[in-house]
Amino acid sequence: MGKNLSEFPVQYIKGVGPRRAKLLNTLGIKTAEEALYYLPYRYEDRKNIKKISALEYGRLETVIGKVIAAEVIKLPRRNMKLFELTVSDGSGLVKGKWFNQPFLKKNFEAGQEVILSGIVKRNPYRGIGFEFDNPEYEFVTDDADAFIHTARIVPIYRTTAGLSVRQLRTIMFNLINTCINDVSDYIPDEILRRNNFHGLTESIFNSHFPESGIDIDSLNSCSSIYQERLYFEELFKFELGLSIIKKGKEVERGIAFDCNGVLVRKFIDTLKFKLTSAQQRVFEEILHDMRSQHPMNRLLQGDVGCGKTVIAVMAMLTAAECGYQAALMAPTEILAGQHYINIHKMIEDMGLKVCLMTGSKKKEREALRCDIASGKTNIIIGTHALIQEGVEFKNLGLAIIDEQHRFGVMQRQLLRKKAVNPDVLVMTATPIPRTLSMTLYGDLDYSVIDELPPGRSPVVTRLFNAGQKEYIYRAIAEETKKGRQVYVVYPVIDETEKTNLKSAILGREALEKIFPNLKVELIHGRLKPQERENIMASFKAGAIDVLVSTTVIEVGVDVPNAAMMLIVHAERFGLSQLHQLRGRVGRGGSQSYCFLLMYEPVSEDARRRLDIMIKTNDGFRIAEEDLDIRGPGEFFGTRQAGMPDLKLANIVRDARLLDTARKEAFALIDKDAELNTFPELKKGLEMFWKGKIELFKTS
Ligand code: ADP
Ligand code: MG
Repeated sequence: MGKNLSEFPVQYIKGVGPRRAKLLNTLGIKTAEEALYYLPYRYEDRKNIKKISALEYGRLETVIGKVIAAEVIKLPRRNMKLFELTVSDGSGLVKGKWFNQPFLKKNFEAGQEVILSGIVKRNPYRGIGFEFDNPEYEFVTDDADAFIHTARIVPIYRTTAGLSVRQLRTIMFNLINTCINDVSDYIPDEILRRNNFHGLTESIFNSHFPESGIDIDSLNSCSSIYQERLYFEELFKFELGLSIIKKGKEVERGIAFDCNGVLVRKFIDTLKFKLTSAQQRVFEEILHDMRSQHPMNRLLQGDVGCGKTVIAVMAMLTAAECGYQAALMAPTEILAGQHYINIHKMIEDMGLKVCLMTGSKKKEREALRCDIASGKTNIIIGTHALIQEGVEFKNLGLAIIDEQHRFGVMQRQLLRKKAVNPDVLVMTATPIPRTLSMTLYGDLDYSVIDELPPGRSPVVTRLFNAGQKEYIYRAIAEETKKGRQVYVVYPVIDETEKTNLKSAILGREALEKIFPNLKVELIHGRLKPQERENIMASFKAGAIDVLVSTTVIEVGVDVPNAAMMLIVHAERFGLSQLHQLRGRVGRGGSQSYCFLLMYEPVSEDARRRLDIMIKTNDGFRIAEEDLDIRGPGEFFGTRQAGMPDLKLANIVRDARLLDTARKEAFALIDKDAELNTFPELKKGLEMFWKGKIELFKTS
C-alpha cells in the first residue's frame, strides 16, 4: 500500500526505533522522505579493496584487515595524545592514527576485522611503511547484511555520535527497499525526457547504492546523472517558485505612468555631464516598465561608481511628474543622508518637496509622517524606517531600494505593501555572479549598467606591510598637498585587548600628530546621526583633509575629490567589503589610490583576497573569486532570508543544472501558471516553499 513518505516518521522504518530516530532527527531526518534525500557525501569503491602490500602513497585507498594493536601514545608535545591502530591483512601492516581522540581506543580490540580507508601516507620517521591520518573506519561484522557494505560501491554518510556509518547504511538500505515504490515522481515526463534524466526511483537508488557499472568518480564529483536528477528537482522547485512570484506580479495591475518627461529633461540639463549610453539604455528599460500598466519589478545592477543614483532620481522625477510619491530606501543612515544631500537641492529647484526619514529623528518624525501621509512630500528618502508601521503614504507610486544586498526579500515585500502595486526598482552595487542573481533575484527583471563614466582611470591598488608606513604617510602628504582628500579606514572603533587591532580612535590621534597642518576628522557608527551628517557634509565641502572612519562609509558615499583610501588591517576585511570601500575613491577625474595595509599574521584566504584586489578592479570578477573562496553557503549567508534552503544542489557546482531548471520552470509556468495540469507537482512545490512565500492564492 502506498505510504505518504513526507509524513511517515523514520522511527517506523525497519531497524530504527525511538532511540535511533532521535539520532536521525539530529541529522535533519524526521520523515522517510527526508531520509531518501539524505545523500552520501562520498562513495567508496569496495569492489577494489587493496592488499596492504599493494597500497600506493598519496592515494585514497581502502583495506580490510584484523586489528593487531590499539594503543594510546602520549606525545611529549603539549599534552597531545595519539590513538594508534595497527591492522594486518597478512600481506602487510598499516597504521591508523588519530590525534587527540584517545577515547577511540575503547571501540577496538585485537582480532576484530575492520575496514580502513583514507589517504596513504609514509611513516614520517622511518620513511617506509603505510599509515592513514584520521581514516574512516568500519567494523566487519559477520552479519547477513555484509553485501550492503562490501564488494560494491559503498555510500559514506555523515552521521552523528551513537550511530555508526555502517548502521546508518543498513538503515538507508532497508528504508530505500521498503519505500522506493511509494515515491511519487512529480517532474513532468516531458521535462525528464528532454534532459535525459531517469525516473525518481532509479535516481534515488543509484545515488545511495550505485549499480556496479556506474563510474565512481562521477559519483564523488556529484555529477552522475542520478545525483543530478535529484539536484535538478530541487532547483526546479526553487525556480518554479520564483517564476510563479514573478508571473504573479506581472499580471497584477499597477500604475501606468503617463507623462511627457519635462522634469527628467530639466534634470538632465542641470547635470554637468552626459549620461553614458548604458545609463540611457537602462533608463529606457525602466521607463518602459513604468509606462506599462503592470508593476515594475526590476533589478538594476552596476558596479560602484557607475552612476545609479542619477537613474534613481530620473525614475523618481517621472513618478512625481505624474503626481505620485516616490521613495528611496537605503541601508544605512549615512547613505540615506548622502542621497538626501546629493539630490534634494536639484529636486527642490523643480518645485518638488523632498524629505529624509531615518529612525533617529524621533522628534521630527511626526511632522514628516503627516507630510508623507497628506502627500505634501513628493520624494521620500530614508532607511528601513520607511517600512515601519505607522508610515503611510498618500500615493506611493515608485519604491526604490538601494544596495539591496543589505535587505532581504521580506523587506522588499514590506515596502511594496506600503501601496497598491507600486513600481519597484532594486539597485545593487554588489556584483553577483549570474548564477547567484538567478536565485537571489530570480523574480525580478534585470538591467545592468556595464560602463563607467568616461575619464575615470582605474584605482591603483597597492599592498603594504607595517614596515612601510613611512611611504604611506608621504603619499598622504602629497595627495593632500594637491588638494585631494583621503579616507583612512579601520576595522574597529576602539582598541580592545582581545582583538589587538589598530583602532579608528587611536588612529585619528596618531594621524593628527603626524600631520599637524591637516584637518583630520573621525566618523563612526557610535556618533549621533546629526554629528555624522555634519562631518560628512564638511568632508564633502572639502573642509576635512583626512577622514578616519570605520566601515560606515562602505556603501554609497560619494565625494569625488577623495582620491586616496588607506585601509588599515586590510587582511581583516571581506572581499566584497574591500571592493565596496575602494569604490569610494576613483569617482573624480584624478588618478586615485587604494592602499591596503596588512598586519601579520595573514591567513591564506586573506592573502588571496588581497592579491585579487591588487589584480583587478572588476566587480564581477571579484564576486566570482569571493564565491570561490567562501563557498555559496557563506556567500549567501543571511541574504537568502525568505528563500527555501537548497539541501542538495549547489548553485556554483550545479550552475548548468540551475540554468536548465530555470528555463524549464519558466516555460512551464508560462503554459500553466497555476500548475493545474500537474497537481502532484503543485503539492510538492507548496511543501517546498511552505512558511516562506505563499505561491498560490488560496481561493
Ligand atoms: P553608484 O552607482 O555607485 O551609486 P553614483 O550614482 O554615486 O554611483 O555615481 C558616482 C559618481 O559619478 C557621482 O559623483 C556622479 O555624479 C557621477 N556620475 C554619474 N553619472 C555620470 C556620467 N554619466 N558622467 C560623469 N559622471 C557621472
Ligand atoms: Mg549608489
